[in-house]
Amino acid sequence: MDYMQPVVIELGDRLENPGDSFSVADRLPLESYESGEKQFMLDDGVSYDVVLTNAGDGILVTGIVRAAATGECDRCLEPARFDIAGEIEEYFLFQEPEDAEAYEDGYEMVGPERTIDLSGAIWDALVMDTPFVVLCRPDCAGLCPTCGANLNEGPCGCAEASQQAWVESDDNPFAALRNLKLD
Ligand SMILES: [Zn+2]
Ligand SMILES: [Zn+2]
Repeated sequence: MDYMQPVVIELGDRLENPGDSFSVADRLPLESYESGEKQFMLDDGVSYDVVLTNAGDGILVTGIVRAAATGECDRCLEPARFDIAGEIEEYFLFQEPEDAEAYEDGYEMVGPERTIDLSGAIWDALVMDTPFVVLCRPDCAGLCPTCGANLNEGPCGCAEASQQAWVESDDNPFAALRNLKLD
């Protein structure tokens, strides 16, 4: 497990007035992450590109998180690659609100030195955009449940064999016809 380090942005004397904004883009050297108990490797870390805006009572951060990830195909267990393009929308308040429930989507706090930590928002965007089902290709044929062969590499013969077995078994509704003697 690769933990995400804090991603601290120092506001300094920027964003002093409502409506002020500036953008920040960078790449984090994260090598892997976990989501839904699965592990994913990252080709080239995680890139983020966000705009910070003074929205009056806090800093609104909006933007996008991108990454190229590789996991294990849920059907055939071979490597499966996919691109992440997750949206960030996070609110960092200057002061604890009197009515926290007014912020339905939650919020974070601007730090005492006028810093904000984007790591939570970046992590959330990464995980939210990770597909629930990861496939090496949309039509992955998966593994044969009988012999375990990768069916993307061609038929293993089990399907034909079980078809033949079914034809010869008494489960076949036409099995009775085999013994039917026609005069
Ligand atoms: Zn596959
Ligand atoms: Zn098979």
